[in-house]
Amino acid sequence: MPIAGIYGPDDLPGAERGPAVHDRGPSARHASALPMPQLEWTRDVERATAHLYERVKRVIPPLEWLFMAPYVKAINELKSARDAVILAHNYQTPEIFHCVADITGDSLQLAIEATRVKASTIIQCGVHFMAETSKILNPDKTVLIPDARAGCSLAASITAQDVRLLRERFPGVPVVAYVNTSADVKAEVDICCTSSNAVDVVESLNAPMVIFLPDQYLARYVASRTNVKIIAWKGACEVHERFTGNELRRYREADPAVQIIAHPECPPDVLAEADFTGSTAHMIKWVREKHPRRLVMITECSMADNVRAELPDVEMVQPCNLCPHMKRITLANILESLLYLREEVVVDPEIAARARRSVERMLNLKN
Ligand code: SF4
Repeated sequence: MPIAGIYGPDDLPGAERGPAVHDRGPSARHASALPMPQLEWTRDVERATAHLYERVKRVIPPLEWLFMAPYVKAINELKSARDAVILAHNYQTPEIFHCVADITGDSLQLAIEATRVKASTIIQCGVHFMAETSKILNPDKTVLIPDARAGCSLAASITAQDVRLLRERFPGVPVVAYVNTSADVKAEVDICCTSSNAVDVVESLNAPMVIFLPDQYLARYVASRTNVKIIAWKGACEVHERFTGNELRRYREADPAVQIIAHPECPPDVLAEADFTGSTAHMIKWVREKHPRRLVMITECSMADNVRAELPDVEMVQPCNLCPHMKRITLANILESLLYLREEVVVDPEIAARARRSVERMLNLKN
């Protein structure tokens, strides 16, 4: 069904806007710092990390590994000293994803795993809304993000006030928020969703019309798969909206047998050219099952590296759109995060309680 309407800040006079300010949190202010470990390549470092290099040797040259391995060893040792667990999104670089992360996945997988974590500290290798989601689901744990400036163009596109104004404009219409939103926005909506479960979440509300925010392209994708009328918001992912249908047609002309899979945050002309559309978790599952000879993954660039490290016989034709926010997370700032317990993610308890209802309502749906 075509989208029923699309709104943005200009359509809602009275909306307050401004950059999010992240409190550095109590642990950052009173950190008991640990000493900086040695960060040189030694025989000991080589021995301790050889099994990890095996996982990434197809995507990380040996010379680069000489600089990464001391950090990898230090981070893996410090995790137990800090009783910490590292959660890493599929868009993290291979040395983080394959060598220091304890749990990897898309937003939904990380949100579910965040509820099962036993460690007292979570280091979120991803962007700020993901760390907020972990804090919302684990209010008693310390949640750290190695660089609090790691934002997201989708999360930045809408405020809590925008949601309140949308509710005034469409009284009684339920509101679904993609997890790529701030805690303040999650606190204002009825339920959250991810790109894995967006259609199921919309249909679970049993309503003829739903407000779906903030990603206009994911909203269009959902609208194409349901009879529920969708009111969308004008947000977009700055990485996925750069792909074009023309680009995909050129890949197909160069090799008619190539397989193309795309994330639903892409514009409709891109999805129309794809052989499969799905969340990052669904894309990885598809590649493991189908094992295509040549593949174009239309999503953030590091995910293709992570899949290539795991499945070397799949030849990747790799358009490289990097997410600048995801790339703020590095081995160096993960190490600093563990040493100095920073940057701590803080969510106002009253906002967190309301946001938790929206996230838990999603998690309680059958996946
Ligand atoms: S890839 Fe897009 S949706 Fe994901 S964090 Fe970056 S800007 Fe946000």
